[in-house]
Amino acid sequence: MSESLPDPVDLLVIAAHPDDAELCLGGTLLASRALGLRTAVVDLTRGELSSRGDPETRLRETEAATALLGLDHRTNLDLGDGTIRDRDDARVALVGEIRRLRPKVVLAPWRDDLHPDHAGAGELAFRCHYLTGVRLYAPGPAPAWRPPQLGYYMAHTPFEPSVIVDISDHFEGKLAVMRAYASQFHQPGIDGAPTKIADPEFPRFVEGRAREYGVRAGVRYGEPIRWHDPPAVADPTSWIVGEGLPGSRRPEHRTHGLSVPGTAGEAE
Ligand SMILES: [Zn+2]
Repeated sequence: MSESLPDPVDLLVIAAHPDDAELCLGGTLLASRALGLRTAVVDLTRGELSSRGDPETRLRETEAATALLGLDHRTNLDLGDGTIRDRDDARVALVGEIRRLRPKVVLAPWRDDLHPDHAGAGELAFRCHYLTGVRLYAPGPAPAWRPPQLGYYMAHTPFEPSVIVDISDHFEGKLAVMRAYASQFHQPGIDGAPTKIADPEFPRFVEGRAREYGVRAGVRYGEPIRWHDPPAVADPTSWIVGEGLPGSRRPEHRTHGLSVPGTAGEAE
């Protein structure tokens, strides 16, 4: 019954593990929220194979991060850490959740990521994106709904992005959201398994990547996304923020099309 469905969301992030959305797209989720968009995260596992932190601690940390992100929905499909791949039971579960939330944009991990769960989640999302629109596939309480746009976000393995989300105003917020996962990070005086994100240098890596992609787009901090299919835009000049390469400074008008000061004015 459609009456029981939640209001549709604008942005849905699919994550293999409960801190992936925060680490990879924390700025994008905060920026989207600040723009008034409705946001959601679907975690595919509880991260129960993690070398650090027990499940109860990680659940509390996820709840704290969810509150900081201001998410409208967060669900966990509990498909089994270390087993995420494109398979029938996972398809049925994820298709049902996407149909329930009816997002405009779905973002999933890059399909060639180093981590098998991330790559598996990307492949699963790609296949589910198609199946969500197949009316007779796994019918459930929510009707068929194919999100208009699917994109991929960057975890371990870099790729050439097709768009950079400007997170300059939300980078500190992203760091705060990441810190909600205290058990996963380096804490002075506390021993734990040596993982990539528990390295004391990890926050510097996060900043370096955000700076690298931000600089390429002419903003301070950015998060890279690669669209599965190129999106259509009605006005190819209206969506640009930032200045691009050094020396290509745009005229100060962000919203006035192509009129260049001193040119359009003289013609009046
Ligand atoms: Zn992960």
